[in-house]
Amino acid sequence: MVQSGTVILKKGKEHSIERYHPWIFSGAIQESTGSLTDGCWVEVLSYKGKRLGFGHYQKGSIMVRMLQFGADELGEHFWENKFRQALQLRKSAGLPTETTNAFRLIHGEGDGLPGLIVDYYDGVAIVQAHDAGMHEDRHRIAEALLKALGAGLQTVYYKSHGTLPGKLRDEHHNEYLSGMSAVPHIVVEHGKKFYIDWEEGQKTGFFLDQRENRRLLGEFSAGKTVLNTFCYTGGFSVYALEAGAQVVHSVDASEKAIQLTRKNLELNGFDAEKHSCYAIDTFDFLADKHHAYDVIVLDPPAFAKHRDARHQAVRGYQRLNAEAMKVIRPGGVIFTFSCSQVVDRQLFYDTIVSAAIQAGRQIKVLHHLSQPADHPVSIFHPEGEYLKGLVLFVE
Ligand code: SAH
Repeated sequence: MVQSGTVILKKGKEHSIERYHPWIFSGAIQESTGSLTDGCWVEVLSYKGKRLGFGHYQKGSIMVRMLQFGADELGEHFWENKFRQALQLRKSAGLPTETTNAFRLIHGEGDGLPGLIVDYYDGVAIVQAHDAGMHEDRHRIAEALLKALGAGLQTVYYKSHGTLPGKLRDEHHNEYLSGMSAVPHIVVEHGKKFYIDWEEGQKTGFFLDQRENRRLLGEFSAGKTVLNTFCYTGGFSVYALEAGAQVVHSVDASEKAIQLTRKNLELNGFDAEKHSCYAIDTFDFLADKHHAYDVIVLDPPAFAKHRDARHQAVRGYQRLNAEAMKVIRPGGVIFTFSCSQVVDRQLFYDTIVSAAIQAGRQIKVLHHLSQPADHPVSIFHPEGEYLKGLVLFVE
C-alpha cells in the first residue's frame, strides 16, 4: 500500500485519534498535501507533525477513516494481518463450530476496518464496501482473505452496488473476485439449515446478526402459536418450529422473501401444516385482529437510515409495537428489535414504553438483546452497536 498524501490535524484534534476513534471530520483538518483522490490512503499527522496513523481518504463530512493507529509504517501484510486478527476474535468467541459455519468476519469499525463488511458462508466470503477506499482496495482484500482463510475459502463475491456512495454505485456491478459458487448455497446455524443467495438476496444474503436472538426465541416457542413478522428468509420461524412451536405464521412484504422462507422450512423438513406464509405488509396483517398469538417477533428493517428520519422512525416503532401489544394473548411474549443506528438503546426503550402506554397493557422486560460477538463494537466507537432488542412479557 502506498499513501498518496498527508493530512495534518488542527491543534487538539489529535486526542480523539489517540483514543482510537476511527473518524476524522473535515473540520478537524488543518491542511493536506499530496494528490488526494477519493479512496486513496493518507498518512495522518498531528499539528506538531507526530504520526497518528493511516487511513482511507474520501471527500465529505468524514474525510478520513482510520485503518492503522500509531507511529508504525504500513506493513506489507496489512490486510492479511487484519483478517487473521478478526479470525482470532471469532475463534475466541467460539466461531465457527460444528453446527454453525456462517458468521460475520469483518464488522467495519468493530474490526478496525471502517467501511468494510465481510460475511462468511461456509467457504464463500461476501465483501461489501461502504466507501471509496474499500472499493479501491477490493482486489487486495480478496487476495488477503484467500491467504488468511486458506483452504477454508473458495469464493469471494463483491457485493457493493447498494452500499457504495453516489457515482461509484452507478458505475459498479456486483462480481466474483475469486472462484464462483452456485447459489443458493447451504449453511448451518446452530444445526439448522439455511439457503443463502448472495446474488439475489438482500444485503449479503442473510441476517447473521440475529443468530443468538433466534436461538433464544426457540426457548419461548415450544407448544406456542408464533408470529414472525418481517421474516425475510424465515430465520426466526425455523428456530420456532425446531423448538416445537404448534403453529408459526411468517409475514414479509416481499414475495421473494416469502418464497425463500418456504424453501428454508422445506429444507429443514418441517410439517407444512404447522406453518403459513403471508406476503403482506406487517401493519396490514396486524390490523386484521382475528389472529391471536402467544409469541410475536418484530424485526423491521431500519426505519431511520439518517438522523433527519429519526422522529418518523420512532413513530413507526411505536405504532408497530403498540399494534403487536394489542393483539398478543395474555401471558404472551414479544421479541422486538430496531436496527436503526440513529435510534439508540435508550430511545428505543422509551419508544417501547410509549407503545405500552398506548396499548394499555402491563408489560415486563425479560431480556435486553443486542448483536452477537461476530459483530463486535469498538469501545471508542459506540455507534457500532446498531441492533437493539427487548423480550417483553405481556400480562
Ligand atoms: N428477521 C429477519 C430479517 C429481517 S430484514 C431474519 O432473521 O433474517 C427486514 C425484512 O422486512 C425484509 O425481508 C423486508 O422485505 C421486510 N419488510 C420491509 N418492510 C415491510 C413491511 N412493511 N411489512 C412486512 N415486511 C417488510
